Amino acid sequence: MRIYNTMSRKVEEFVPIAEGHASMYCCGPTVYNYAHIGNLRTYIFEDLLHRTLERAGYKVKHVMNITDVGHLTGDGDDGEDKMEKSARETGRSVWDIAAFYTDAFFSDEKDLNIIRPDIVCRATDHIQDMIDLIRKLEEGGHTYTSGGNVYFSIDSIDDYGKLAKLNLDELRSGARIDVDSNKRNPKDFVLWFTNSKFKDQAMMWDSPWGRGYPGWHIECSAMSMKYLGDHFDIHCGGIDAIPVHHTNEIAQSEAACGHVWVNYWCHGEFLVNDKGKMSKSSGEFLTLSVLKEKGYDPLDYRYFCLSGHYRSQLKFSYEALDHARAARKAIVEKVSLLKAEAAPAAEPSAEARGYMDAFDEAMENDLSAPQALSQFHMLLKCDMPAADKLAAIYHMDAVLGLRLDEVEPHKEERIGSDEDWKLVEERAAAKKARDFARADEIRQILMERGFIVKDTPQGAILEKKM
Ligand code: AMP
Ligand code: ZN
Repeated sequence: MRIYNTMSRKVEEFVPIAEGHASMYCCGPTVYNYAHIGNLRTYIFEDLLHRTLERAGYKVKHVMNITDVGHLTGDGDDGEDKMEKSARETGRSVWDIAAFYTDAFFSDEKDLNIIRPDIVCRATDHIQDMIDLIRKLEEGGHTYTSGGNVYFSIDSIDDYGKLAKLNLDELRSGARIDVDSNKRNPKDFVLWFTNSKFKDQAMMWDSPWGRGYPGWHIECSAMSMKYLGDHFDIHCGGIDAIPVHHTNEIAQSEAACGHVWVNYWCHGEFLVNDKGKMSKSSGEFLTLSVLKEKGYDPLDYRYFCLSGHYRSQLKFSYEALDHARAARKAIVEKVSLLKAEAAPAAEPSAEARGYMDAFDEAMENDLSAPQALSQFHMLLKCDMPAADKLAAIYHMDAVLGLRLDEVEPHKEERIGSDEDWKLVEERAAAKKARDFARADEIRQILMERGFIVKDTPQGAILEKKM
């Protein structure tokens, strides 16, 4: 298995820390609104990584957080608190908002056939873990308190910004003017707020530094380390997390544990539209529900995402989604016909195995889904016994996740209702009993109902009267 590591900027061989195991942490949603389809592209990418690791034989432990302590609208400790803002706008409590949008998020994930992470952890359930981690950083001399808030000092470590390859000298000389005046370095970030910018902050907890709430970045460090230890394999997110969120996660985690924290950093590129990055504020707020209301199946969107490589931008348009829908419909129809013909072979032929291996090779080469899909289409088109073909299709779909195992076998459409067919049977019985008058009578009744009865060697059939 090979995967691109943002830390080295190279596609690398995946070498797990524990043989046969793969531990991965994915930054989850901030639950103050519905996820937009751009967010969902990132979770589909992480699902593909999860499924491909399993295919490659690893036992996967997948952890994802739910950010239900509102993080600010800006990554750099600036802007408004997203949860409070949403609560104020809707007149609901922050807790209600979080519960409602967490449910909505998992409903989208289910619709998209995204495997639920093994552990889903809420920030509000892990405040003590965050406090413990901040304490550790404090003991190590990595923090300072200023204006009531606890800050991480990036000058207390040597390699701040290594993931994003930030040039710190440039950053210092170009320091922004509007920066928080409590910060010693403009890139320092808050670990614990007691001095809230917002009146009547709803979510607050006691801490050694006073009543307040955690900064955003500390939650991912605290929860990932709690469930995966202080050295694990893979950390994922969207590319926008590289310069601030993941950079700060690395700074504080490695300052706390004193060694490399994560081996592979994997990032998904953006879903874009005409105006650029898909976001909650730009243009139409596109959620999965909007697509469903317009008549698309969520799996049409999943298929659309599979058509692009996760490290390339993917441009959303309804035209492109229509193509995805047509392609998926054709796949489903083909699979339905195959299912009517045969059951999947327990031991697929060498030819079928050839396609399966080529598919796996593409996915295990930095999740090359477009190449894997082209193997899938070649398989669908090739001339191969239905049983072998179906076995190979199921094998591939365990990674593609298009729910092809649930497709109904094709049935010839039967003309006429159950009642009409009862009459057909009665007519057959009448004929057998040489009651031709009754048989003719039934033929007449069916004629009035719009059907012609035809006798064939396989028995009588109904045809629509022209
Ligand atoms: P948020 O709920 O805002 O924290 O975002 C959840 C995830 O979606 C993060 O991993 C982001 O990096 C990712 N994300 C945000 N916008 C996009 C986009 N347009 N395309 C793909 N991923 C995105
Ligand atoms: Zn995170």
